[in-house]
Amino acid sequence: MNIHELTFLQEKIQELKDTGVYRKLPILEGPNEAEITLNGKKVINLSSNNYLGFASHPKLKDAATRAIEKYGVGAGAVRTIVGNMDLHEEMEKVLAQFKREEAVMVFQSGFNCNAGTIQAIVEKGDLIISDELNHASIIDGCRLSKADKTVYKHADMESLESVLKEKRDQYRNVLIITDGVFSMDGDIAPLPEIVALAEKYNALTYVDDAHGSGVLGENGRGTVDHFGLHGRVDFTIGTLSKAIGVIGGYVAGSHTMKEWLSHRGRPLLFSTSLPPAAVAPIIEAVNLLMSTREYTDRLWDNARYFKQELGKLGFDLGKSETPITPVIIGNEGKTMDFSRKLLENGVFVSGIVFPTVPKGTGRVRCMVTAAHTKEQLDQAVKVFKQVGQEMEII
Ligand SMILES: *Cc1c(COP(=O)(O)O)cnc(C)c1O
Repeated sequence: MNIHELTFLQEKIQELKDTGVYRKLPILEGPNEAEITLNGKKVINLSSNNYLGFASHPKLKDAATRAIEKYGVGAGAVRTIVGNMDLHEEMEKVLAQFKREEAVMVFQSGFNCNAGTIQAIVEKGDLIISDELNHASIIDGCRLSKADKTVYKHADMESLESVLKEKRDQYRNVLIITDGVFSMDGDIAPLPEIVALAEKYNALTYVDDAHGSGVLGENGRGTVDHFGLHGRVDFTIGTLSKAIGVIGGYVAGSHTMKEWLSHRGRPLLFSTSLPPAAVAPIIEAVNLLMSTREYTDRLWDNARYFKQELGKLGFDLGKSETPITPVIIGNEGKTMDFSRKLLENGVFVSGIVFPTVPKGTGRVRCMVTAAHTKEQLDQAVKVFKQVGQEMEII
């Protein structure tokens, strides 16, 4: 047999098919908005991370177009050579102001921000303590570091403290890493307690606020701001691809953090910087967020309304404290069926099952945004009711 036929991969693909988890990528025609055309069909979109509707906001599109006219379409190099435009510097200044931190370092995505930052700040002789439900990019970032790693039970402070108590003295630096908002359940990390433990045991803190930035805190400043913990978290990560609507990731923190990452953040040294057409709308988005609460208010209004209506129907919404609205179904097959039937009836909500979430806790995850109208939300609730009753979920 010819190795280039990749039969060893074909066999694995067949396994995916046999276990019912094989899927094709959905195809979106047009912008990612509250109502979309998906695989040729018009549906209500409850699956995006476009929390504020910024991904196709006219002001952001204008800013992108103007930036292309002035700067072209590519940055042309990595930042450490000649790919660091005045636009990139302005973006980081505006973000630092937004996050109320000394400095911000931007990467090309949230994923490679975690991959690049964690390995740059901890090394052999250090320990990483990570919440067991942290995002995949944190897990990969930890794997790239030569530090020892251990996990604590999700949001469990006794578990975290027992690790600190047992291991703190054996290491030089200890880094506690948590998501700010957990993307599968929509719960918020107990940051005040985490920070207090970090201070008690002289550990560093690292909060990945991909789902909190643009959502929680004053004008969407994030989870650290929500809890009033400015100055007490060492590294705060955000994405520019969710609420901000464009692409990119960043670390907010001290000047020292930024100075070090500009020398040792590998994605900055070895991968070209964000294009002008991404950077300019990011600046526009952050300025817009700082100038008005209109978008964050509408996001929360919509989320509260949608949760209240689904709750009234008797759906199990788990322990969400944010606009992320999981509807827990349980059984994996039934979850995927529910998602499929919702789509047939014009509502797109992705099903999420093991191994992304624990076995038996399959769910559809609804992402309500500021851009949804009450009519669209009402229609979605109606479809949830009809399909939920048909399938005897409610
Ligand atoms: C989405 C997400 C990321 C990745 O961000 P991208 O900008 O899409 O690469 C990282 N961390 C968390 C917690 C996320 O939810």
